[in-house]
Amino acid sequence: MKKSEVLVILGTPHRLREPGKQSPDGRLRECVYGREVCAEVALKLESMGYKCVIDYTPLDLPKEMQSPSVRQERQRELAMRVNFVNEICRQNGAKNVLYVSIHVDASGNDGKWHEPNGWSVRVGTKASARSKLLADCLFDAAKSYGLKMRQPTAKQKYWPQELYVLNNTNCPAVLTENLFQDNINDVALLLSDEGRHIIERIHVEGIIKYIECL
Ligand SMILES: [Zn+2]
Repeated sequence: MKKSEVLVILGTPHRLREPGKQSPDGRLRECVYGREVCAEVALKLESMGYKCVIDYTPLDLPKEMQSPSVRQERQRELAMRVNFVNEICRQNGAKNVLYVSIHVDASGNDGKWHEPNGWSVRVGTKASARSKLLADCLFDAAKSYGLKMRQPTAKQKYWPQELYVLNNTNCPAVLTENLFQDNINDVALLLSDEGRHIIERIHVEGIIKYIECL
C-alpha cells in the first residue's frame, strides 16, 4: 500500500479524571504518558511522509461532556473516540485507515507495586485479518527490542479482548499495552530516555511494516 493512501490514527489513553491509571509513586500517569508517546509517534510518521492524526489530545473531556458518574463519562469518551475514527473511515474508506490505541498496562488498582510486567497487544473479539496483521507487526517490533513479551500461546501474538474501541471501529484496530504502570522496573524503563525511545520506535516500525505488508 502506498503511504499516501493510508491514514494512521493514534489513540490516546483515558482521561485525567479517570481514577487510578498511574504508578503507585505517581511519577507515571497513563493518560499523560500515552499522549506524549502519541505526539512523538505522529511527528516521526509525518516526517517520513505518512498521514497521521491523534483521536483526542486534551487531558479531559470538555466541561459539558463531564459527568459525576465515572462510568457515564467513560462511555462518552469512548463513544467520542469511536465516532472520530468511524467518520475518518467514512471519508477515506475503512481499509485505508488504521487505529492504534496506546496504553500502559496495570495488574492491580490498589496503589501498590506488583510483579506482572511486559508488553502485549490486544485485538477485538471479532478482529479482522488486517487487525491481526497489524497486531503481529507491532508485536514483532516490540520483541526486537528485547522486551518481555506477553502472549496467549507460543503461536498467537495478540490477545482478543472485548474492548469498546476495538469492537466498534470500522478499520483495522489494535490496542498496545506498553509495559506495566504498577511494576517498578517497567516504570523505571518507561520513564527513561531509552524506554521512551523504544516505545516510540515500536509503534513507528510496527505501523510502517503493516502498511508495507498490504
Ligand atoms: Zn489503559
